[in-house]
Amino acid sequence: MKKKALITGITGQDGGHLAQLLHKKGYKIYGIIRGQSNPKREQIENEFPYVELIEADLIDQSSLVRAFQACKPDEVYNLGAISHVGYSFKDPQITAEITGKGVVNMLEAIRLTDSDNKVRFYQASTSEMFGGTDYNRPKKGYNEDSPFHPRSPYGVAKLYGHWITKNYRESYGMYALSGILFNHEGERRGIEFVTRKITDGVAKIKAGKQKFIELGDLWPKRDWGYAGDYVEGMWLMLQQDKPKDYVLATGEAHTIEEFLDIAFREVGINDWRPYVKQNPAFMRPAEVDYLLGDPSRAEKELGWERKVDFPGLVKLMVQHDLKLQLDK
Ligand code: GDP
Repeated sequence: MKKKALITGITGQDGGHLAQLLHKKGYKIYGIIRGQSNPKREQIENEFPYVELIEADLIDQSSLVRAFQACKPDEVYNLGAISHVGYSFKDPQITAEITGKGVVNMLEAIRLTDSDNKVRFYQASTSEMFGGTDYNRPKKGYNEDSPFHPRSPYGVAKLYGHWITKNYRESYGMYALSGILFNHEGERRGIEFVTRKITDGVAKIKAGKQKFIELGDLWPKRDWGYAGDYVEGMWLMLQQDKPKDYVLATGEAHTIEEFLDIAFREVGINDWRPYVKQNPAFMRPAEVDYLLGDPSRAEKELGWERKVDFPGLVKLMVQHDLKLQLDK
């Protein structure tokens, strides 16, 4: 019998990478998609014909119960969320509803439908829960035991999801865990994130279609890895005997300026300054200065490995976006 996986957030970056991975592993895959005439539906159907889409919504408990009854999954990956930090300041309530309360809706739907208590549940937790403050960051980077200090409505909502997952594990003995993932990027990243905004801009500048890129603060540091490597880690977490939370990170942090250096050099531009303008509109009410993660536990216990390093990630994204410009 094929194993069955249900993915929320199938239209997002990680949903796409995970669908490819689970397909390779021989899973039957179901994806939850929102509402009538979702513009992303056709794109998903074309790219992932092997994914069966089910209409449901993270804020509609009964639709989730119906989804679980319809597909009876073995593994559930809850990747659906309002996932953009900047946006969460503009719409904190919706972020709380979907990113936070959506998690308990999923867990309750499982509890109501999974009488054998067999489902394995993955919650997409995030490094934004640590908040980038100095006092709680160990030298080697944040780990599974570091205290949380979220600095955005997104981080706060994710923290609720994190704790309610732990609570269901402890209260009901559910196989439920969280992966605390540091920033992970790639060719599927949305343009609203700084990495893709830069590589898309670089490709358009190279193609003569854009003059400069407008950005906010350039000094924040992020621990950026490749999303394709991170979905492998998600899957590994759900294959362990006992459910446990894990940090996935690279253990290296870089500034946005360093990202710009490599991205522009990839198209033969050594000084990016003439091509970047700062715009306060892209600055945040509270900034997360420095995110660095310590992936030791995942490396040791899961045997998790990364194939793409930081320069490799930037180059891969620039090359992908250059090709998109050439194909146009
Ligand atoms: P995040 O770490 O989940 O918030 O991922 P982002 O890619 O959205 O942001 C990473 C860092 O880039 C943050 O410190 C942002 O403040 C900073 N940043 C600077 N300019 C921009 C911009 O134009 N867009 C975005 N999204 N972030 C920017």
